[in-house]
Amino acid sequence: MSLIVDRMPELGVTRLSRWIFNCYVLDGDDGPVVVDPGSRRISLDVTTLLGKRAAGLRAVVATHGHTDHVGGAPSLAAMTGADVHVAPATIEYTRGARPPSVPSSCLGFGPVLLGQPFDGAVLRSSAADALRSGYGTPLGWRWTGPDPVGDLTDDAPVPGASEWIVVDAPGHTPDSVALWHAGTRTLLAGDAIATARGRALFAPITFDKQHAPATSARLRGLPAEHLLPGHGLPLHTPAW
Ligand SMILES: [Zn+2]
Repeated sequence: MSLIVDRMPELGVTRLSRWIFNCYVLDGDDGPVVVDPGSRRISLDVTTLLGKRAAGLRAVVATHGHTDHVGGAPSLAAMTGADVHVAPATIEYTRGARPPSVPSSCLGFGPVLLGQPFDGAVLRSSAADALRSGYGTPLGWRWTGPDPVGDLTDDAPVPGASEWIVVDAPGHTPDSVALWHAGTRTLLAGDAIATARGRALFAPITFDKQHAPATSARLRGLPAEHLLPGHGLPLHTPAW
């Protein structure tokens, strides 16, 4: 077992992580909200962590449609009855648009892979999940379960956690969003920013080269003090 449970009560956030897979549980308006359950393995971890509170899960939110962020979303939704929320651009993939499968650049991601303990179980789970949910392989978009809701639009409150707002963040992929909590100055970045060796890596893997620079500039402009990356360890200094 190499599940890491990283409680950040001052932020109202708990990070569950296996290897490079970060999933975040937010203290929502009247129940928890789960962001980026990237494999069915992690979804089981979430329900174990929440116990009876899992029945009150308000929403499952994905920062983009890559399998390692949504692979566990349908199963978590089925276990709890919560809806899955994605960006409108992700919905286009459910309607037949072709998601990108080859990155245009891949800079410096190696240290991210080595930064946390390897977990073969979650890697095997993710490989199986890729056949069912999300995209990232030449198979294109896959999904099982009820259709996701495409309401993660720029500046909208996060469903079930209205102190967080959605920030459009195309660049890693065309359908990427980040989440911002102004009260605690916390940026949940999805894959727009990874971390390794205590540093933030903006756009470490880019499928949407056209939009990545503007997104990086926008995110750098936020007065963030806490960075919760899609991959890598959180950073908690204003200087990141
Ligand atoms: Zn991704």
